[in-house]
Amino acid sequence: MTAAVAAPSPFAAVWFDCDSTLCAIEGVDELLRFAPPALRTEIATLTERAMNGDLPLADVYGARLAALRPRREQLEAVGELYCQRLTAGARETVAALQWLGKQVGICSGGLVVPVLRVARELGIDREHVRAVAVTFAADGSYLGFEPGPLTQNGGKATVLAALPAASRPLAFVGDGVTDLETMGHVARFVGFGGVVARAAVRQRAGFFTAAPTLAAVLPFVTTAAEQERLRGDATFQRLLSAPPS
Ligand SMILES: [Mg+2]
Repeated sequence: MTAAVAAPSPFAAVWFDCDSTLCAIEGVDELLRFAPPALRTEIATLTERAMNGDLPLADVYGARLAALRPRREQLEAVGELYCQRLTAGARETVAALQWLGKQVGICSGGLVVPVLRVARELGIDREHVRAVAVTFAADGSYLGFEPGPLTQNGGKATVLAALPAASRPLAFVGDGVTDLETMGHVARFVGFGGVVARAAVRQRAGFFTAAPTLAAVLPFVTTAAEQERLRGDATFQRLLSAPPS
């Protein structure tokens, strides 16, 4: 038997952040529409500081939700908005990765109700969704969220490292500093700046694109052989001609 030159091992799974990665909006910003104006400004500032890495996420997370107290139907409305505002190329990119036989998942610091709505829209199994659980009273009013790794800095690395063997080697794609924290804990981190390009992520991610389509991450999460397969398919070939960042 002749040993061929070893091709790079393909990623078994590609997981994505939700807000500003699979979806071109931030769920918390949308929830703010239900809040009084003074609260809106205060919370938007906190969120931005957490996402840029200026404030610990755990400090911001509980305070934000305690102030917002989102009702179940408000979270369902955010889920619908997520689906209306999917990032360009998100649907096709997820489909292409699944067509290649990869597991696709979502790891989000957002609340599970709207994130599961996105998963359903994109054909992602709910078993491959990690987000923050939330509890409601029978009338849909907010009771609380479940603090866990995803409501703290470093949490995505913890959650992704705990995925079963079937999810490895794992590539993770995201826009924020909490996503960047997975670098070194997953086989490959790809920074996506197509919705919001954050300086810290652009500077520190080994792989980064600011192209306005999620398809621009495909070359970072597929092998040359897999790209050949995509090029041979009428549905997916155009995804690999995404504009350079
Ligand atoms: Mg994000």
